[in-house]
Amino acid sequence: DRQKKIRNFCIIAHIDHGKSTLADRLIEKTGTLTQREMEDQVLDTMELEKERGITIKAQAIRLVHTTEGGEEYILNLIDTPGHVDFNYEVSRSLAACEGALLVVDATQGIQAQTLANCYLALEHDLEIIPVINKIDLPSARPDEIKKEIEDVIGLDCSDAPLISAKVGLGIDDVLKAIVEKIPCPEGDEDAPLRALIFDSYYDSYKGVICYIRVKEGTIKKGMKIKLMASKKEYEVTEVGIFRPQYMEVPELKAGDVGYVCASIKNVRDARVGDTITEAEREAKEPLPGYRPAIPMVFSGFYPTDSAKYEELKEALEKLQLNDAALIFEPETSVALGFGFRCGFLGLLHMEIVQERLEREYNLDIVTTAPSVIYRITKTDGEVIELTNPTNMPSPTEIEFMEEPYVKATIITPSEYVGAVMDLCQNKRGIFKNMEYIETTRVMLHYEMPLNEIIYDFFDALKSRTKGYASLDYELIGYKESDLVKLDILLNGDPVDALSQIVPKERAYQRGRAICEKLKEIIPRQLFEIPIQAAIGSKIIARETVKALRKDVLAKCYGGDITRKKKLLEKQKEGKKRMKQIGTVEVPQEAFMAVLKVE
Ligand code: GDP
Ligand code: MG
Repeated sequence: DRQKKIRNFCIIAHIDHGKSTLADRLIEKTGTLTQREMEDQVLDTMELEKERGITIKAQAIRLVHTTEGGEEYILNLIDTPGHVDFNYEVSRSLAACEGALLVVDATQGIQAQTLANCYLALEHDLEIIPVINKIDLPSARPDEIKKEIEDVIGLDCSDAPLISAKVGLGIDDVLKAIVEKIPCPEGDEDAPLRALIFDSYYDSYKGVICYIRVKEGTIKKGMKIKLMASKKEYEVTEVGIFRPQYMEVPELKAGDVGYVCASIKNVRDARVGDTITEAEREAKEPLPGYRPAIPMVFSGFYPTDSAKYEELKEALEKLQLNDAALIFEPETSVALGFGFRCGFLGLLHMEIVQERLEREYNLDIVTTAPSVIYRITKTDGEVIELTNPTNMPSPTEIEFMEEPYVKATIITPSEYVGAVMDLCQNKRGIFKNMEYIETTRVMLHYEMPLNEIIYDFFDALKSRTKGYASLDYELIGYKESDLVKLDILLNGDPVDALSQIVPKERAYQRGRAICEKLKEIIPRQLFEIPIQAAIGSKIIARETVKALRKDVLAKCYGGDITRKKKLLEKQKEGKKRMKQIGTVEVPQEAFMAVLKVE
């Protein structure tokens, strides 16, 4: 039977534990690519992904493995994104598989994303094969780590492969485990078609390329298909497999992983998680688990050069062709002019879009501080969702306000528990509980406002734990909070793009800190610039950027030269992204600074 020779699996791991390296070894070992074709880390192809060392989108590859006994197996490897922003994509990739390799670094042990990914895989009933990696390192503790996985996750590790993905040790054991332990697919080939879209890309020649796992039935060229969530119908122009380049095949059947093209113009019409069925012979129900991507973080994007507004719009439209999660709408700011309010899955997603706009479209962008979606119940009973702090109704119109909360899991060496708890407290965390993973490592659970986590929480956590702590979080819903809008005035004029929503009890402290920070960031100009923080009409803090005198640099050189030099360099860098607000030149940094203060 055909399906008995197929294995569909993914690799899950905490970041840097060796997922991509293991994928490379599997590709190499099965001879899918020759050494020469083998570009380093094939699966992370996008330039940005390589630089950041993370997989942004899922990718898939078909490996052909011949066992010692001479039997041929088709192994479909689906790579998963490695960041919480893309957790929904991860869940769809997992839903396309029967099994998962759980890679754990033998020097680090279980980390926050090890657990999060493992639970996701268990939710999808995947067979999980623990794989202990990096055993070539002198500090590797494979036996302890095996015990840890058994104790904390409850997976049997007695014959977990001990490997070094880097030097290529133990890869045969991994292949053997895939064939022997992961169940084969068992879909009915004659049933009405149901294929899960686990990823989609826009290609200017082929249109949208849907990456699919056929669960039941058969799909082939010429077939009329229907997307069950978007309800749109198309005719299939091509089906194929990943070798890893696209290779057309006559058909894909239950159990197969491959791609489908059907002249689909936009990734929005073929969203990750949607089910493809046959138009003339529709499946009764779609595959479970579909949900549209929900943006969680919003920010204003403005061209530094106002004349580039149309260009920015076109660039965003182009990016959107390939990014179903990106949304935007026109927005005007008194301070920044014409721009767009954009919605993202998270901060990483936002940074990626910004970087792509700058690199691929050569645009200079000023972005405002990212904001979550606040929910406001007004005194007249109306409930509104607020994505831009500027639009906050006046306090008299507000009955109560709610903000999104996450459940955060932090794993840290026990000596840093105090520092981590202190940080979480600072970020309005609600302590839930604490467990020991081993005598030297602790897992902490907190509930925390999403707003406190999106910006620099991860960096702060890393710096307080010398890089040893790991973090994962998931949205749990909305909770009521006492919040106010904090405005910033430059030269007496409120700058709408600098407004932010803050917890009332922290407003004074925040206001002061922001004014101090802005004083450092805004370069001196020919006149004095007062910086003020206000809640409503009440001024709560004030600083002044002194006027620049012609001889100011000369004087400074007598004293602290390095500091001044740094300042000048900083100014030069900042020049690129400066925005004229009234008479004041404000660098990009200023818009982010409002979030960076402790
Ligand atoms: P990913 O984030 O899980 O995809 O991790 P990568 O595969 O990108 O690996 C992260 C880092 O660990 C890279 O610098 C790899 O070279 C290194 N690495 C991966 N596997 C091994 C291994 O078996 N031994 C050693 N010493 N380093 C490894
Ligand atoms: Mg990787």
